[in-house]
Amino acid sequence: MARRKNAKKPAPHKRLPKLGKAFTCPFCHHPESVECTIDKKLKIGKASCYVCSESYCVKINFLTEAIDIYSEWLDACEAANSNSTPRENK
Ligand SMILES: [Zn+2]
Repeated sequence: MARRKNAKKPAPHKRLPKLGKAFTCPFCHHPESVECTIDKKLKIGKASCYVCSESYCVKINFLTEAIDIYSEWLDACEAANSNSTPRENK
């Protein structure tokens, strides 16, 4: 049985334009509208967009930075999008 590589691969990690504190919103695509806050006490990172009010929370560790929270959010968005294909491989 020949195995074929899946041609439909998600894009490799893109370089984010800059390491700022404000990022482009994955929902409304408004530039620099997403702000990340890090709560080291609760070990929760939160990214939220002030334009469309979307937000995302993620568990963090002491190495987590704002950019990590943001990229986790992007990953979660991508995962949610690819989940819409009702295909299961058992
Ligand atoms: Zn937004």
